[in-house]
Amino acid sequence: NRSRANDYVHEVYELVKKRNPDEKEFLQAIREIFVSLRPVFAKHPEYIRDGILERITEPERIISFRVAWEDDQGRVHVNRGFRVQFNSELGPYKGGIRFHPSVNNSIMKFLAFEQIFKNALTGQPIGAGKGGSDFDPKGKSEREIMRFTQSFMTELSKHIGSDMDVPAGDIGVGKREIGYMFGQYNRLKGGFEAGVLTGKDPSLGGSLGRKEATGYGTVYFVEEMLNENGMSFKDSTVIVSGSGNVSTYAMEKAQQLGAKVVACSDSGGYIYDKNGIDLETVKRLKEVENKRIWEYRKTHPHAEYHEDCSKIWTIPCDIALPCATQNEIDEVSANMLIKNGLKAIGEGANMPCTIEAIELFLKNGTLFAPAKAANAGGVAVSAMEMSQNSMRLAWTAEEVDQRLKTVMKNIYGSCKDAAERFGKPGNLVMGANIAGFLKVANAMVAHGIR
Ligand code: GLU
Repeated sequence: NRSRANDYVHEVYELVKKRNPDEKEFLQAIREIFVSLRPVFAKHPEYIRDGILERITEPERIISFRVAWEDDQGRVHVNRGFRVQFNSELGPYKGGIRFHPSVNNSIMKFLAFEQIFKNALTGQPIGAGKGGSDFDPKGKSEREIMRFTQSFMTELSKHIGSDMDVPAGDIGVGKREIGYMFGQYNRLKGGFEAGVLTGKDPSLGGSLGRKEATGYGTVYFVEEMLNENGMSFKDSTVIVSGSGNVSTYAMEKAQQLGAKVVACSDSGGYIYDKNGIDLETVKRLKEVENKRIWEYRKTHPHAEYHEDCSKIWTIPCDIALPCATQNEIDEVSANMLIKNGLKAIGEGANMPCTIEAIELFLKNGTLFAPAKAANAGGVAVSAMEMSQNSMRLAWTAEEVDQRLKTVMKNIYGSCKDAAERFGKPGNLVMGANIAGFLKVANAMVAHGIR
């Protein structure tokens, strides 16, 4: 059975590679999952019979469209828009929208693919999707952002709906952009479809606690993992890359648990404040003034600023929380972190560690919280937003936070159990991949071949 399973996984990998040449990030995500799944197919020949792996690696639908918009000088620009509707076995497609110049087919597909397992792990009834555009919000005026976002939604609106596909934010898309998209969607459809997008401002029916959910969830998950191993955030030194939504609230929760966060970053560089990052300043710069992180030094001249973002990982720390973007920690950075005494790592961003880096951490015995599990808090609270919208009521921030804690604890439990059951105790990478996969695979068998 084992060799049949290995052959099957290998065959499907070759097939996916042939079908998606040059899609580097997508193939990286596939490879990471496939390695974990071998023991599953040895135990479950029915998944081979039903072609689960061939089917789960092919998106149900990919929509790609033109987005034309006019800048403040009256010049016309064209960007490319995407929505990958990857898997709807467990519920409506669900996942964020990313506005970043790096967005392309491969990035969209890797993110939507990861979302399948992440969303399944939350235990909520949501399928998986991802969307976005290669539009660069940096340096654009408020009105340019509004016009672009409305144009984007004019096309996207034909393909989404509260029981069909429910987008949310991601890099470059926060509650402002969600608000404009929501406005445009409702204008086109002529009504108020509360559950068509999540991550809305609470004034538009958004859930309290959604903004904090991904960052808080990452820290809840890592704290659970640390506690199991006789450690905690208390009195630890922490590095959190990024300074967006995920990063900011990961820093906030880590600080609340007694950690000292000494560094954070944006795409221009990183700040090292050995006295501990002053979060109010980061929030003012990033959430209110839309400024770059180097301006932190204007009020905190003792802090260091460096332009090479990858060097943030040369700062000694106990816990590293990469919360910026994919592949930000490679084997060089991983080696440096390990050498400097790193104890645990929690992936707040999607796929922030390369496969080689993950292997190094696991080999070294560094506690490793993989993205699919550790950053699932955001989408989990998005699903809670959908529930509240359906019921036409709003939970308190405390109630949402309590539910988030429970979800993260349960995810930790499922990952740990799956790792044990399939012979790799403590390997949460494998545990997360397997636990997420089993939920979707069982639904695929139940739904029949389609
Ligand atoms: N973009 C987030 C993620 O990567 C959140 C998605 C959502 O809330 O639907 O999971």
